[in-house]
Amino acid sequence: MGVFDHAEFDSHESLHFFNDSATGLNAIIALHSTVLGPAAGGCRRWTYANDAEALTDALRLSRGMTYKNAVAELPFGGGKAVILGSDAAPKTPELLAAFGHAVNALGGNYITAEDVGMSVDDMRHVQSETEFVTGLPQTGEAAGGDPSPLTALGVFLGIESAVKARLNRSSVEGLKVAVQGVGHVGAHLCTLLHEAGAKLVIADVNRRNLDAVAKQLPARVVAPSEILFADVDVLAPCALGNILTSATIPNIKARVIAGAANNQLSTAADGQRVADREILYAPDYVINAGGIINVSHEFHGGSSEKAVRADIAKIPLRLEAIFKEANDTGRPTNELADEFARRLISAGKK
Ligand code: NAD
Repeated sequence: MGVFDHAEFDSHESLHFFNDSATGLNAIIALHSTVLGPAAGGCRRWTYANDAEALTDALRLSRGMTYKNAVAELPFGGGKAVILGSDAAPKTPELLAAFGHAVNALGGNYITAEDVGMSVDDMRHVQSETEFVTGLPQTGEAAGGDPSPLTALGVFLGIESAVKARLNRSSVEGLKVAVQGVGHVGAHLCTLLHEAGAKLVIADVNRRNLDAVAKQLPARVVAPSEILFADVDVLAPCALGNILTSATIPNIKARVIAGAANNQLSTAADGQRVADREILYAPDYVINAGGIINVSHEFHGGSSEKAVRADIAKIPLRLEAIFKEANDTGRPTNELADEFARRLISAGKK
């Protein structure tokens, strides 16, 4: 398994492999950049087909965090952890503590939080071994806790700005929105969309998560294999990455793609493919920054949820600037967002 010649290796500063034989923990922590501050990014627990797939995910996700944190103007670099899920290594308090020990070994260069497969409760176990953890339960008005509702809020505001730009609509009322994945973020997003009058189409590979939303909200349920191609105005990917590919893009009917999932485009060239079909794509790491904004307020302390929401309200402004430039220049939105992020990182280096 090559690292330095890996297709997703992008001058990552360091890559750490952790094993704890007592709990079965196998984890990778990738620090892509600490130029703008300690590398912050969530921890994903997923059952990968093999180690190489986990490494690819860690490399891609950590680079995405560098760009996300830069564009959100947070004093963080980018990093990400993946825990390799398996029956032999169940998510026990001991395994989570062992992961906390691994995070602590990096001495504050990496700050963790929840991502796919991890919860607020899990973070409490991680905290038993390290102070470099966020997404912890908070009391009163203090900023922090589960980042998912705030990620959903940013995505919702971003969908509103995308439908304004592409469909000339001032709200999502009456629009059909397909949500792929109704887990932590997707479920909250469905509630916000429903309250704003959107018509929901949903799919999830997890029956329990699907039923929980379908019982609560009026939504048309479709098979996971159909959701990307549903006859809707907006597609909101809120599951995993690598879904916008040369095979899927030609069959997408939505005019707007705007959702929470990280790394939605399989390759940068897929951004051009989407643009060629005149579909407006909201760059994932710009629209889904609400959670890391919440993490930043929690980590730095003394802040409130009101302040977090005020920062999340800047997400649609950033998207509007990208959409306008895309419209003026004909360039794909992902390319413009990357360029903007790289400019901010090089300014930080100086
Ligand atoms: P989650 O695990 O709670 O939810 C993901 C859901 O997607 C699950 O219900 C899962 O069953 C479903 N899913 C997986 N593959 C699917 C498929 N092929 N078709 C349909 N459904 C599928 O995770 P989450 O925290 O809601 O995160 C969702 C996405 O948003 C991830 O890509 C994550 O990296 C990204 N994200 C999350 C946050 C956050 O605050 N949680 C912040 C930024 C980005």
